[in-house]
Amino acid sequence: MYDYIIIGGGIVGMSTAMQLLQQQPGKKLLVVEKEAQVAQHQTGHNSGVIHAGVYYTPGSLKAKFCLEGNKATKTFCDENDIPYDECGKLLVATNELEMERMKALWERTEANGLERYWLNAEELKAREPNITGIGGIFVPSSGIVSYRRVTEVMADKVREMGGEIQFNCEVTALKESDSDVTVFTSRGSFTSQYMISCSGLMADRVVKMLGIKPTFKICPFRGEYYLLKPEHNQVVNHLIYPIPDPSMPFLGVHLTRMIDGTVTVGPNAVMAWKREGYKKTDISLKDSLEALTYPGILKVLYKNLKPGLIETKNSLFKGQYLKEVNKYCPKIVKSDLQPYPAGVRAQAVSEDGNLVDDFLFVKTKRTINVCNAPSPAATSAIPIGKHILQEAAENFA
Ligand SMILES: Cc1cc2nc3c(=O)[nH]c(=O)nc-3n(C[C@H](O)[C@H](O)[C@H](O)COP(=O)(O)OP(=O)(O)OC[C@H]3O[C@@H](n4cnc5c(N)ncnc54)[C@H](O)[C@@H]3O)c2cc1C
Repeated sequence: MYDYIIIGGGIVGMSTAMQLLQQQPGKKLLVVEKEAQVAQHQTGHNSGVIHAGVYYTPGSLKAKFCLEGNKATKTFCDENDIPYDECGKLLVATNELEMERMKALWERTEANGLERYWLNAEELKAREPNITGIGGIFVPSSGIVSYRRVTEVMADKVREMGGEIQFNCEVTALKESDSDVTVFTSRGSFTSQYMISCSGLMADRVVKMLGIKPTFKICPFRGEYYLLKPEHNQVVNHLIYPIPDPSMPFLGVHLTRMIDGTVTVGPNAVMAWKREGYKKTDISLKDSLEALTYPGILKVLYKNLKPGLIETKNSLFKGQYLKEVNKYCPKIVKSDLQPYPAGVRAQAVSEDGNLVDDFLFVKTKRTINVCNAPSPAATSAIPIGKHILQEAAENFA
């Protein structure tokens, strides 16, 4: 009998497992992960940005955890010799409409307690000679890291503290009783006092296994990137982000310096027809049918028809994608865009057709289920883990 079983070897599961054993040494803990290594899904396929907390609704969990997570991630990296770079981020306005939106973002960064600087066109040019814009916001605390590396180090710590991690171990069914939780997997069944699910793209399916009808469904959104040719590795000094359209849920195609010295462009956001489908051609009949028969997802598609079509066009035609980048970085040409692996975001959609904005947790007597942890959940993984432990202390019988 285990004290705790955690489903999912992404950064949220590993951060929770690590902090649990730090807080309650000696507890019998098992992490089950269906892949052969940690960080094989969202955690290993993202932009690697340590977000500062620019965009999030003041007072939301995202705003709070991102701010805390920015510091906590850097401290964790300092303590464990994990390379990161606090290179800062520039939000760039390229026209008057974006300038107006930038003013609203400026207010938001104030409400979210961020250090930031307003730049005019000359100041922007001085910081970034290859970037064109009429103004910008500089946020110094944004940084870059490999979240895969961070998660591997967390996993090492879990093992050092006596925790077990079972790979190639897929959870297929769950049974919660008054006294325990049985976790049925592809490698046999395990019983535990409590269970915590951090299962990303499968979050709604795990909740369903508990016999609960989820009030949301995970909608997978693929984010496609390009890698710039090595001669452009110095094209920018900071992370360069467009001013997001507030009606769009994602941040827009950005230029991201990666911790290995390369620069990526992306990600866009197109609906994926397979939950763990990283290629444009990946289609799962089961996943597609499940999405297209869920009223909430249909409503989202209907409400976002125009932006959805634009994103699809940008995905299919490199020249269209390039236009997004050329708005603020005219130097890049089509042949500079090299292939790079995509990521798939796990975005919860509510029954009434809204993208769930904040982090979402569903609790039962003996389980806590992380149900919506899209960006900035990699940055926020340490505070999310802390929050789960607080919830466990208060709620578990
Ligand atoms: C394109 C993209 C860019 C992003 N950029 C950033 C960024 O720059 N900064 C940032 O902070 N965040 C970013 N994010 C978000 C961030 O990557 C995620 O929020 C974070 O990784 C979520 O971690 P997780 O542990 O919840 O999920 P995951 O990493 O997806 O882990 C879930 C794990 O659960 C396992 N699992 C699922 N079902 C089962 C089962 N039945 N049995 C056993 N195991 C199971 C999966 O195999 C997986 O390993 C980005 C995401 C994407 C997709």
